[in-house]
Amino acid sequence: MTGRLVGPLPTVRFRDGARIVADPPRSTMDLRYVVCSDHRTACDCREAELSEQLADLRYDRDEATRVEQAIAATLRIHSRNQAGYCRGCHNHHPCPTRTLLLPHSWIVRFEESHPL
Ligand SMILES: [Zn+2]
Ligand SMILES: [Zn+2]
Repeated sequence: MTGRLVGPLPTVRFRDGARIVADPPRSTMDLRYVVCSDHRTACDCREAELSEQLADLRYDRDEATRVEQAIAATLRIHSRNQAGYCRGCHNHHPCPTRTLLLPHSWIVRFEESHPL
């Protein structure tokens, strides 16, 4: 052990281009969140809370994308066949599944209104 730091070290970039080496807390599980007491602007507890909120928002966004993809895939199955029935469930087109899901998929509405 030489005791030297090995990189790359986490860097915080500021709007004016300035950079400092810092590794702010990423969640409220970080001990620095618990012990933060001075509460200056952008202190450790704020960094932890904002970082956690951002992670939650990213999770919600990714979950919404997965739901959107599942709805689009289901709608592609429940499309109209040449005889005028649903390919997926053989009800009259549009079937109940399609009627329920179509308002929730802008991408399928767009694809069907702009055929290749
Ligand atoms: Zn604080
Ligand atoms: Zn159907």
